[in-house]
Amino acid sequence: MFDIHKIRKDFPILNRIVNGKPLVYFDNGATAQKPQTVIDAITNYYTNQNANIHRGVHTLSREITIVYEEARKTIQAHINAAHANEIIFTRGTTESINLVAYCFGKINVFEGDEILITQMEHHSNIVAWQQLCEEKKAILKYIPINEAGELILEDLPKLITSKTKLVAFTHISNTLGTINPVKEMIKQIRALSCPLSGDGRGAVVLIDGAQAVSHLKPNVQDLDCDFYAFSGHKLFGPTGVGVLYAKEEWLTKFGPYQTGGGTIKTVTMQKTEFADAPLKFEAGTPHIEGGIGLAAAIDYVNSIGFEAIQKHEDTLMNYATQKLSEIEGVRIYGSSKHRTSVLSFNVGSIHPFDIGTLLDKYGIAIRSGHHCTQPICQFYNIPGTIRASFTFYNTVEEIDLFIEALKKSIRLLS
Ligand code: PMP
Repeated sequence: MFDIHKIRKDFPILNRIVNGKPLVYFDNGATAQKPQTVIDAITNYYTNQNANIHRGVHTLSREITIVYEEARKTIQAHINAAHANEIIFTRGTTESINLVAYCFGKINVFEGDEILITQMEHHSNIVAWQQLCEEKKAILKYIPINEAGELILEDLPKLITSKTKLVAFTHISNTLGTINPVKEMIKQIRALSCPLSGDGRGAVVLIDGAQAVSHLKPNVQDLDCDFYAFSGHKLFGPTGVGVLYAKEEWLTKFGPYQTGGGTIKTVTMQKTEFADAPLKFEAGTPHIEGGIGLAAAIDYVNSIGFEAIQKHEDTLMNYATQKLSEIEGVRIYGSSKHRTSVLSFNVGSIHPFDIGTLLDKYGIAIRSGHHCTQPICQFYNIPGTIRASFTFYNTVEEIDLFIEALKKSIRLLS
């Protein structure tokens, strides 16, 4: 049973008063709030379990190593990875993408090769590829979007060539809410592209799952992606921790991303032999409480269930879209049939920052700006948008408060 009142009690921050009003938190796309179980897991680590992992023979170290590796297995099971060693702990989506750009680029991208991304990517999934292409004299191409904020997939056959080495795209757009048809896209990409290094599978695919993981449960084997990147903090877990799922074959081929303690098997003064994945990719002492907190967050969302989460989010999204559309001068960006939990809009020529600042006075936290997707803003020829992003602990009543505050803000600014 989806009990919204019970769920809200699990998130202590939702009791906060902001500027004299109860907090309405609609900035879940930027970062999600944390349930008590996640906070408790982190507190418990520092209160009872703190030690370094993988190094010590003493009890605390052995205990916490087991807990940390169990966290990896929780993530593996959650995204249905074939092996626990395909789960690399990183600092977040951004670092996961950078890791692939560096390690894949080093051995597979050369002058004249092509990388394909999309026009709806977060800067994290643009800049790393731009840098790689610049360094390797490779060519960066993109799949354009249409007015509805959907990818123009009819262009895929002309965008993919015998030179396409890697295709990277977001599962869900953080600005438009569009849910991309990831599985179909991967099938099409594989069919259109040339086998890379003779493995017969076509171009390599990286999915940016930063926005997707709080709304759905990715099944990486079913998707058949090579890489899937996400951040802990958008999945109700801690900041500073994230995941790179990578097919084992890549982790065997890749050299290390960073080097240092933990990544090695043996070191002499002349030479280093590296450990196998995942340790080869986890240099230095990791974000131990981050991994543990992320596993607690995954247990929490699974205790609610993604079917119930999606049903509730659809109700919120439909209600908010309806209410927002009734306001004169509102233009919503993104109208794909397949979208979720993100409403980006502008009101007439009012600057998004002005609305955001006024809404804050009513205790309403939304995001205004370009949301690290400047190419989307350039496409619509706007400086940015106001973005309300919902999750399962939000309510219809909060949307009413938001709509009322928005109307008052518009009156003040008109
Ligand atoms: N990709 C998308 C689609 C995102 O929404 C974000 C965060 N806004 C990122 C990548 C980057 O995530 P992080 O800052 O956690 O690395």
